[in-house]
Amino acid sequence: ELANRMTERVADVVKSLMQNGIMATSTQTIDADTAELVIEEFGHKVQRVSDADVEDVIQQVEDAPEDLEPRAPVVTIMGHVDHGKTSLLDAIRNARVAGGEAGGITQHIGAYQVEQDGKALTFLDTPGHAAFTAMRARGAQVTDIVVLVVAADDAVMPQTVEAINHARAAEVPMIVAINKVDRPGANPDKVRTDLLQHEVIVEKMSGDVQDVEVSATEGTGIDALLEAIALQAEILELKANPNRAAVGAVVEAQLDVGRGPVATVLVQNGTLKQGDIFVVGEQWGKVRAMENDQGKRVKSAGPSVPVEVLGLNGTPAAGDVLNVVDTEAQAREIAEFRAAQAKDKRAAAGAAMTLEQMMSKAKADENVSELAIVVKADVQGSAEAIQQAMEKIGNEEVRVRVLHSGVGAITESDVTLAEASKAPIIGFNVRANAAARAAANQKGVELRYYSVIYDLVDDITAAASGMLSAEI
Ligand code: GDP
Repeated sequence: ELANRMTERVADVVKSLMQNGIMATSTQTIDADTAELVIEEFGHKVQRVSDADVEDVIQQVEDAPEDLEPRAPVVTIMGHVDHGKTSLLDAIRNARVAGGEAGGITQHIGAYQVEQDGKALTFLDTPGHAAFTAMRARGAQVTDIVVLVVAADDAVMPQTVEAINHARAAEVPMIVAINKVDRPGANPDKVRTDLLQHEVIVEKMSGDVQDVEVSATEGTGIDALLEAIALQAEILELKANPNRAAVGAVVEAQLDVGRGPVATVLVQNGTLKQGDIFVVGEQWGKVRAMENDQGKRVKSAGPSVPVEVLGLNGTPAAGDVLNVVDTEAQAREIAEFRAAQAKDKRAAAGAAMTLEQMMSKAKADENVSELAIVVKADVQGSAEAIQQAMEKIGNEEVRVRVLHSGVGAITESDVTLAEASKAPIIGFNVRANAAARAAANQKGVELRYYSVIYDLVDDITAAASGMLSAEI
């Protein structure tokens, strides 16, 4: 590849490498520094990939209006814990799986489609605003409509308000599903009045936000909810061009022991086809095989269709954007460029705040007893969501104070900060590196790992109220 780009003979490049002590074959991958050395030796000029090059390859050409066709809306369900997000997702899936395959064992791929009056609706099967915001933080705006679930026997709760704020921040229209109407204590009108305080005015209160009463467990109101979604989708006039190179977003991804890295990708524009070469975040690949939400092999996937993609060289992150490109060299180049950039960024972020600055920031207010914590998360969106959730815990006598919240693995400097304030360190989808683990052990700093935001909120709430009762 390198010889080709320099229009030199492969044998000469291999020879040059060998002279530099690298016993390379003609298909071996060499690192950028070595490549640079070889290029200079041949008297060529090195041109590293830049942001502009990436933009050139990933051309986001505007589609001509005549090329656009209607596409299915993508729906995310949000709401307070236990208000029935998961139950509702299950109820919808059971009610109507696209293609009439209901009852069959559906494979979990992080998203699914159902049919409403012959039209498809796509649901992201990853409830919660943490996932929603984490994806948005990575540049993937995948949701067209948010269904806000509020339990009629509980009304508006803190995470309901957060969900409203997240939907607003993303400028995504909402539909309110008033759930658990089968419960004896259900009071749907209380939900409607509660929502007024947060400037969500539902239709029944003469507003323009659709509200539907449902029972996820009884399966009532599901049709009406799907109709409401379809109606909202019609208003949005969602369109995409199926006849172009695909652009998509990773809904979830993991390393599968047998199959290697797999990612659920929601195609946002164009059509993703078997054999397509793509770059996705800091990874790249070639579509080896695709499966739809029912576990069936498919050869292509158009706009708003979720598919599981095999053929990645590494595991991308949720929210990473996928772009189909022309050649493997382009895909690899962009992925490597982004990985190097991310590494630089992480190094810069780590050095940005000195320990002294962190300490002075952490200086506590004497009159309030507080539970100090240090938060590290995998993505900025999660770090922010956690910080917001943590700051809501507590009252006049006790409060939770986030000393520091950042992105990346737990480091020694996090441990030092935590030790100074007797704070535990929370790792959200990240862990401590070896040096930090050793330091934490030695200094008696507690490391706690979480992957579910609600578990974290529960534990910290319990710890904070424990402090409260000890004070009295
Ligand atoms: P999530 O945390 O928002 O995903 O909530 P879940 O879907 O896990 O539901 C929390 C609990 O509420 C579970 O025990 C469900 O069985 C129950 N639940 C959910 N929807 C309904 C409903 O419509 N009626 C009743 N009675 N219970 C429900």
